[in-house]
Amino acid sequence: MKISDLKVFLLDVPLRTPFITALRRVDELTDVILEMQTDTGAVGYGEAPPTKAITGETLESICTDLNGPIRNALTGMEIEDLPACFRALDACMDHHTSAKACADIALYDLYGQLKQKSIAEILGKRRDVLETDLTISVNDPETMAEDAVKGVHRGFRTLKVKAGIDPELDTQRLTAIRKAVGKDILIRIDANQAWTPDQAVSILEEMQEKGIGLELAEQPVKADDLDGMAFVTARSPIPIAADESCFSPDQAEYIFRNHCADLVNIKLMKTGGIHHALQITDLAEKYGASCMIGCMLEAKVSVNAAVHLASSRTCITKIDLDGPLLLAEDPVHGGSIFREPRITLSNAPGAGIRKIDGLRLPGF
Ligand code: MG
Repeated sequence: MKISDLKVFLLDVPLRTPFITALRRVDELTDVILEMQTDTGAVGYGEAPPTKAITGETLESICTDLNGPIRNALTGMEIEDLPACFRALDACMDHHTSAKACADIALYDLYGQLKQKSIAEILGKRRDVLETDLTISVNDPETMAEDAVKGVHRGFRTLKVKAGIDPELDTQRLTAIRKAVGKDILIRIDANQAWTPDQAVSILEEMQEKGIGLELAEQPVKADDLDGMAFVTARSPIPIAADESCFSPDQAEYIFRNHCADLVNIKLMKTGGIHHALQITDLAEKYGASCMIGCMLEAKVSVNAAVHLASSRTCITKIDLDGPLLLAEDPVHGGSIFREPRITLSNAPGAGIRKIDGLRLPGF
């Protein structure tokens, strides 16, 4: 099975409600969808969202990368030799992790189809069902408490609450949410780099003293402030997870070795795909650490790939794959089934994606 061409499309999907974090606000998702074509007629699908605030990539840059260096690197490659495909992909340019992840996902899809096994089976499947958290966007405390209660009524037992830029208001927000959902719901907080190290320690201490009972805090400080993150991790009353600070296996190793954080949040769009994410899970196992798996605002093609990865690695203990649940409609046929918190793995060969509605050609 040889790669014959790469076809690049855009996919628009409205969100159920606007997505608001300390970094941005989004009302509708537009992602890049890749159809990797082969000489056998088999098609592999990939997806990448433009998360400029995090990876620096835009719709235009992802399309340009796929149509240029990635197409040149992969056309004519044999799917059977997957490591050679990854070497070509990694060598064709530095960074641009989402564009690379898009191609990596399509490569795994095709390899699974070639071997007549699901991606999870190829990776060494350990489980068929995952339970994801639900993200609560930044808003006034009352609205966030209402959103949290709605989530609990939908069956979610873990909430990931986005913090804002005003620490005092964050404590009010979390207090309102805890009061509204009761004791039995796990609450994790994601500061998205909003705090200084000193602020982070005092906010987390205050939240614990107020009985909010957080499970963990994600990315309390600036992405490049690993010393600051280590400072927080050493003093925080709850575990700290590195998200924007951890893209590559090298960064993950630095974080694990120097205990800059207790765990890392793996996202395929940051690692450059499954093949690098596996290096991070190997490192986590070596250092006895655990991982969270997350996603950007993504439709089901790329989140489904993350589900296959998470199903095959027991060190991935925290599941934050609610991207498809934040969408008002699902244009992707096949793949894993997302039913509120419960995600059931697809056992069809490859990624199991059959068809995607509403694809359009990019204007650039
Ligand atoms: Mg995060």
